[in-house]
Amino acid sequence: MKLLSNFAASPHRVTDLQLLRDADVHTAGALLAACPVMLADAGEIVSDAHRPRLTIVLRGALAVQADGDAPGRPSTVAAKILPGESVGEQSVLDDEPDPAVLTALEPSELLLVSADVAWRLIEESDGVARNLLRLLSFRVRAANVQLRKRQKLGEFYRQLSMNDGLTGLHNRAWLNDMLPRLVGTALQTHRPLSLVMLDIDHFKHFNDRYGHPQGDQALRTAAQVLAGALRPTDYAVRYGGEEMMVILPDTCGSVAAAVGQRLCERMRLAAVFMDATPLPHITASFGVASLQPGQDEQALVATADAALYRAKAAGRDRVEVDASAATSFPTATAAA
Ligand code: GH3
Ligand code: MG
Ligand code: MG
Repeated sequence: MKLLSNFAASPHRVTDLQLLRDADVHTAGALLAACPVMLADAGEIVSDAHRPRLTIVLRGALAVQADGDAPGRPSTVAAKILPGESVGEQSVLDDEPDPAVLTALEPSELLLVSADVAWRLIEESDGVARNLLRLLSFRVRAANVQLRKRQKLGEFYRQLSMNDGLTGLHNRAWLNDMLPRLVGTALQTHRPLSLVMLDIDHFKHFNDRYGHPQGDQALRTAAQVLAGALRPTDYAVRYGGEEMMVILPDTCGSVAAAVGQRLCERMRLAAVFMDATPLPHITASFGVASLQPGQDEQALVATADAALYRAKAAGRDRVEVDASAATSFPTATAAA
């Protein structure tokens, strides 16, 4: 920055400065008289990281880049300071250097007011104090709005990271987070919890024969079958590839086996469409297991997976119910 003159010798007036609106012009003028008016080039950083001070734009514009932006990343312009406006009030009030980075957006004339002159302006004029309070309250409000937006965005991305992009079902990250909790709750409250694991049959062949996009469409259809057949308290998860899982809290083995049967039938009947063209129906094999006392989530998944494997071995397009679930529903062992 280059020194142009002091404020008294510059063509600018106290009445041009927003913060000094309602202040006594002579008193404020006298206090500001010796303050330097600087010229900043476009792109020049003008903040002072060591001393608190008020920076008032007389001509041009400043960008305020909030602190906390990671170095090397495109910075967010939190605010633009235009002629008559000021920045750094808070740094003066709490006597800390302003951590924000100020950059001239164009050749700009700036009035630099040290913290002690700024305090004297406040002490000499109720009007300045009132303007300052109004300004700060406006900034707190704006910061709160920003914060709420960020919170919502954070929640949005969290949701996104917990859902599978292709099917919209919960994904593996969600499962890793939620299944231990669901198992823990079931064990603590002595309530049943059942799992239905399923894997689409001969899906490699489906992909090879009809194409990968058509395979994707079949996966979406399978996910819709699950989502459409469950109660609001149940969860459908894409476990990986063409393997999916349904978690049934508060559900005993007999009911879970019936759910498995229902899903198996609906899967077989579901029509897969690609651009309004019907594709062959898909089938899936299912394994059902129920949580046993002392079991953890990994053992429960392994049991359901083993039942699914047996359903594959027995010919596919059917439900195998593990003994843990079958004890309460012995007749539902397999699809007819
Ligand atoms: P099985 O009846 O024994 O389960 O046979 P399969 O062919 O379904 O089993 P395999 O595990 O050999 O093949 C799974 C196939 O699923 C291979 C892979 O290309 C396909 N697949 C996995 N994820 C996706 C996906 O996101 N989209 C598509 N289109 N295909 C997928
Ligand atoms: Mg498969
Ligand atoms: Mg598989």
